[in-house]
Amino acid sequence: MRAECDYLVLGSGVAGLSFALEAARHGRVTMITKRSRTDSATNWAQGGIAAVLDPTDSFEAHVNDTMSTGGGLSHREIVEMVVRDGPSRIHELMDLGAQFSRHEQGRSLDLTREGGHSARRVVHAGDITGEEVQRVLLQAAAASPRIEIIEDHMAIDLVETSKFGGPRRVVGAYALNEDTGEVKTHLARATVLATGGSGKVYLYTSNPDVATGDGVAMAYRAGAELANMEFFQFHPTCLFHPQAKSFLISEALRGEGGILRLRSGDAFMERHHPMKDLAPRDVVARAIDYEMKRTGDECVYLDMTRERAAFIRERFPNIHARCLQYGIDMTKQPIPVVPAAHYMCGGVAVDDQGRSTLPGLWAAGEVTCTGLHGANRLASNSLLEGLVYGHRTAIAAREALGTASKTALAEVPDWDVGEAVPSDEAVVVSQNWDEIRRFMWNYVGIVRTDRRLRRASRRIAMLQDEIREYYWAHLVTRDMLELRNIADVAELIIRCASARKESRGLHYNLDYPHPGEEWQGDTRISRDTAPYIAHE
Ligand SMILES: Cc1cc2nc3c(=O)[nH]c(=O)nc-3n(C[C@H](O)[C@H](O)[C@H](O)COP(=O)(O)OP(=O)(O)OC[C@H]3O[C@@H](n4cnc5c(N)ncnc54)[C@H](O)[C@@H]3O)c2cc1C
Repeated sequence: MRAECDYLVLGSGVAGLSFALEAARHGRVTMITKRSRTDSATNWAQGGIAAVLDPTDSFEAHVNDTMSTGGGLSHREIVEMVVRDGPSRIHELMDLGAQFSRHEQGRSLDLTREGGHSARRVVHAGDITGEEVQRVLLQAAAASPRIEIIEDHMAIDLVETSKFGGPRRVVGAYALNEDTGEVKTHLARATVLATGGSGKVYLYTSNPDVATGDGVAMAYRAGAELANMEFFQFHPTCLFHPQAKSFLISEALRGEGGILRLRSGDAFMERHHPMKDLAPRDVVARAIDYEMKRTGDECVYLDMTRERAAFIRERFPNIHARCLQYGIDMTKQPIPVVPAAHYMCGGVAVDDQGRSTLPGLWAAGEVTCTGLHGANRLASNSLLEGLVYGHRTAIAAREALGTASKTALAEVPDWDVGEAVPSDEAVVVSQNWDEIRRFMWNYVGIVRTDRRLRRASRRIAMLQDEIREYYWAHLVTRDMLELRNIADVAELIIRCASARKESRGLHYNLDYPHPGEEWQGDTRISRDTAPYIAHE
């Protein structure tokens, strides 16, 4: 079973949809998405999109904020390009019908401020910005006769033709149809990874269930280079409640005056950073981790009670309603919060046009490492990156239309199940799933040490052996494939974190608490090369 298209896009978040809309101008696009088309981190984004739209703000200020958050690893030319492209991408969304929040009195956009930003520059739609962005992009995609969206299909692996004696080139992907259990070969002139992040590799995460790092794992197995996998951003404030799964309490609350307090009421951020509650995320997450370990408390509290109740209800309707659902009235009482894995700064290494190191393979969005975020991401720069790179990558990928030969596609074999049988031991999946996420949280989380990394390294090697054996013996299922992917991503994070003998940005190792000049470069890794620091 096989199908052919010009562009195969894996993932229906902001990056995949932005790519598809631009690419559909000159080719046929097939978009495969793991669950429903709205299951994505994009749909969950609350805070907003950073872009210079206020006359008192400047590109230079946004570039400087991004560079200083990036811990010395952001690539200036990439930061400048993304920042300068931001306003056009926002106007494009508005042209598609996006309803962003505006000031009551005037027609101007209500720009909010978030941690690490020196100006109000975050465009938002109340506190459901991502949902609004995805709504208009999906609407536009649905109106295009050249875009086909296939739901409940999970890409398993990329088709790389050197495996079959052809040239080194990606020509599509094998995808599991979840309804039938069949695996189809999707062939394409250009294949685009837009599969998002990998928060599920950690026990506590703000990410949706689809975020299992599939794109990174597929690219790694196919031989592409990856970068900066040790830099994982932990959001400082997820709702702490036994029934609340992955509910984020947006940074915008601190932007609007929220204060972090201990159970005693003590406002502790002034002890950790001069910007107090508006310090960069990594500083806030580490401060909370430190205070929780020091006091033995299970959580800290985010206090909004100084603000007017009417303002809170209007500005944060979604968060207010969700907290009420769990019996917390944020207008009257502080919200219990804990840090959680939030954003993967590393990923598939791409150039300024979204090209990976494998011919035929492009990537955009959270799955990539573009050089924008460096060692730490500035809040609200990721939706921006998805918009900018989705668009740029589609323009660049046009070159693939003329290059990939039809003969190469014809020679690709279909998926071979070999001797595989249906699994009678799904417990292997659930056991290993829990084990990986827990040791990643405890040993490779917010604060690392060499000893913890060594422990994690031994465990992942053992589990990967088991997972490989299980994978080859059984017919594929989504749970099994996701397990295989989080195991590969965990291995990559551990190897890159072990190689970086310093603390910088989001990577904090107690054995090397300071940054070192010799480590000033991206960590590169591939199937064929051990992690190394790439000095520009
Ligand atoms: C709770 C939350 C709040 C956030 N708030 C903000 C914010 O305010 N501002 C900001 O800039 N960023 C925010 N972020 C980050 C931002 O939302 C993401 O970085 C961004 O949306 C990623 O977009 P993407 O298109 O790369 O991936 P996603 O939006 O995650 O889309 C990935 C897509 O790939 C699909 N997929 C995955 N694996 C496969 C596979 N194997 N086969 C087929 N399909 C697959 C998924 O189903 C999904 O459709 C937030 C993230 C979270 C989780």
